[in-house]
Amino acid sequence: MGARIIDGKALAARVRIEVAREVEELVARGGRRPGLATVLVGEDPASAVYVSGKQKACAEAGIAGFDHRLPADSSHDRVAALLGDLGADPEISGILLQIPLPAGLDAAALIPLIDPGKDVDGLTPVSAGRLALGVPGLRPCTPSGVLALLDEAGAELEGAEAVVVGRSDLVGKPVAQLLLSRNATVTICHSRTRDLAEVCRRADVLVAAVGRPRMIPGDWVRPGATVIDVGINRVPDATAPRGYRLVGDVHFASASAVAGFITPVPGGVGPMTIAMLLKNTVRAARQAGR
Ligand code: NAP
Repeated sequence: MGARIIDGKALAARVRIEVAREVEELVARGGRRPGLATVLVGEDPASAVYVSGKQKACAEAGIAGFDHRLPADSSHDRVAALLGDLGADPEISGILLQIPLPAGLDAAALIPLIDPGKDVDGLTPVSAGRLALGVPGLRPCTPSGVLALLDEAGAELEGAEAVVVGRSDLVGKPVAQLLLSRNATVTICHSRTRDLAEVCRRADVLVAAVGRPRMIPGDWVRPGATVIDVGINRVPDATAPRGYRLVGDVHFASASAVAGFITPVPGGVGPMTIAMLLKNTVRAARQAGR
């Protein structure tokens, strides 16, 4: 029997409608319209597409968008000054610094300069600390999307064996902490994990965030497990319109024959990231009392 597909596109659409409704309620009560500032440094085409997608999503949700673009050779001080200005601007409830940054700029030195109250990407040390301590705060978007998809699938997290493959600050670590906060028993795997297949086979909930196309085959998946595939990998495909197609970190054909629930790529975690960004922006606006 095949796994049931967890439809991230449909869930993200519902979240975005809900966010738009919340924005209108907030404004109708006399509050300031939430605003999201995106900061793109340089002309990386993929980053430009992501930022435009985020701005478009803001507009559709009734969130004011502020699209800041700086040249690739911008100095640390110039980016820092912009982040400072955005932090002080009452029109802005959320700030997103698009990463990766061009060579010569250090994301680890710039991210902490984002006002933690406006850290809608949830990546500042303050937000990471709040997550680690289990106190309220803005959570990173993709990991929040993973949890929303698990809830959508009705996955029982309390006491479940959860295995997260990947330990990045952006995805793996925060996903693991969010699962822990839901009382799952969490194992975090990485490139030095011994016998990865055996560890994965224990998982009731398996989250793949590696960045290696189709790395996790069906025989690493416990029958009936819920599988969330965060990976987005381009693989050459002469039959695809652009000469490549997107695949996840999980070998979908074999894993979906074994799993209970599974996310597709594309159409799984991907659409959730922007939806959670919008949600965080409205949350930040509310917390700021706007
Ligand atoms: P990353 O920073 O490169 O981290 C990859 C992680 O995978 C690292 O912890 C690494 O271990 C681990 N790893 C690498 N090779 C491994 C192996 N053979 N066995 C076990 N673990 C291995 O990547 P990321 O930013 O977390 O992203 C992961 C994937 O998610 C990528 O495909 C990315 O495109 C995708 N992504 C999707 C979204 C979305 O919106 N859907 C958002 C963000 C990222 P070490 O720590 O030991 O090196």
